[in-house]
Amino acid sequence: MSKVIIIGAGGVANVVAKKCAQNDTVFSEVLIATRTVSKADKIVAEIAQHMPSSKTVFSTATVDADNVPELVELIRGFGPVMVINVALPYQDLTIMDACLETGVHYLDTANYEPKEVAKFEYSWQWAYQDRFREKGLMALLGCGFDPGATQAFTAYHAKHHFQEIHYLDIVDCNNGSHGKAFATNFNPEINIREITANGRYWENGQWVETQPLEISQDIYYPKVATRKSFVLYHEELESLVKHFPTIKRARFWMTFGEAYIKHLNVLEGIGMTSIEPIDFRGQKIAPIEFLKAVLPAPESLAENYTGQTCIGVQAKGIGKDGQPRVHFVYNVKDHAECYREVQAQGVSYTTGVPAMIGAMLMLQGVWMQPGVWNIEQLDPDPFVEAMNTWGLPVDELAGIELVKD
Ligand code: NDP
Repeated sequence: MSKVIIIGAGGVANVVAKKCAQNDTVFSEVLIATRTVSKADKIVAEIAQHMPSSKTVFSTATVDADNVPELVELIRGFGPVMVINVALPYQDLTIMDACLETGVHYLDTANYEPKEVAKFEYSWQWAYQDRFREKGLMALLGCGFDPGATQAFTAYHAKHHFQEIHYLDIVDCNNGSHGKAFATNFNPEINIREITANGRYWENGQWVETQPLEISQDIYYPKVATRKSFVLYHEELESLVKHFPTIKRARFWMTFGEAYIKHLNVLEGIGMTSIEPIDFRGQKIAPIEFLKAVLPAPESLAENYTGQTCIGVQAKGIGKDGQPRVHFVYNVKDHAECYREVQAQGVSYTTGVPAMIGAMLMLQGVWMQPGVWNIEQLDPDPFVEAMNTWGLPVDELAGIELVKD
């Protein structure tokens, strides 16, 4: 029975909170703290309405997670064992600082990114390694789906199927439809920054840079569809090639529809995706922040979303029997089913469930160990087993090469 604080009250936080409510023998008390407290109150009201038998006790609070003293006061006042950070990547370091100061464990779903530079890498958070270890605290980084489950799938490949992984392809397909002309499935600012940046993949010991969405191929996503998919840089590639040095090439692929790309090109062409603040009627405003205010909130897409997501990891290399092997580990999730269960769309669901699972494995002592950890460094089996239990069934496909060289 544990007390935790969830920071943030967006699409992902909604799922984490409701999954904690389902798992009430582990999560006894949950405080949802965020900038706009009415959003946290809405989540708690929905839990009371849809999950009346849950024994988890919820409360809400306002916090500015950019402010360490405010966070410290919040944490001291509530006294949790850990903080689940599902605010934005900009807040990772302030929340880690506050956890160190108050002696509580930490988990997030996206690596730190400075607000002024569209650049994300683990170096900032890996630099906390000694401080967390010395205090006997754990920080679990990137415990969503991608990053998160994709690293557990890679570790699962390595543990059960491969002597050596040589080629790794992470594939992320959203074959759903929300009926809007243009919307992003998670925080628009973070999402658009990720897609409009140059692509990057790992090959023969170095990063190869591409233009945004320069490389594509049609990929068959089992049980879902064949969809055009594009190479992007994604943060888990950095830790995976570090922790699995036999990898010769690692790529990340994501599907985008033609209409999505057309809208994005226009928005970019007219400067609406820029993070450089402009002067507007005496106020400094970054165009992308304004765009975020205009676009539909990701959580508002949930009600009418249809179709499925399919996210998985293809590994190629030398199998346990010494023979060449190709293997795919993946999950398929239906948007409408997510809505029925927790009033969320599939992208928030597939992120929020792994975050709850990671927190559970820490609290139960299964994964708990001092230091700063990426998911692939931990035993994947309890995580994969919990995915099957908590709504993200894991499937495997042997011997078929879905992603071509
Ligand atoms: P949303 O924008 O829906 O929610 C973010 C929440 O954080 C909002 O409630 C927001 O408050 C709050 N917040 C922002 N700044 C602060 C602050 N300074 N202090 C306190 N609260 C703050 O995002 P999502 O729920 O879609 O995403 C949450 C996280 O999950 C992001 O880091 C995202 O990158 C990550 N993610 C990870 C994925 C994975 O697979 N690993 C996939 C998808 C997302 P307010 O309501 O006031 O704006």
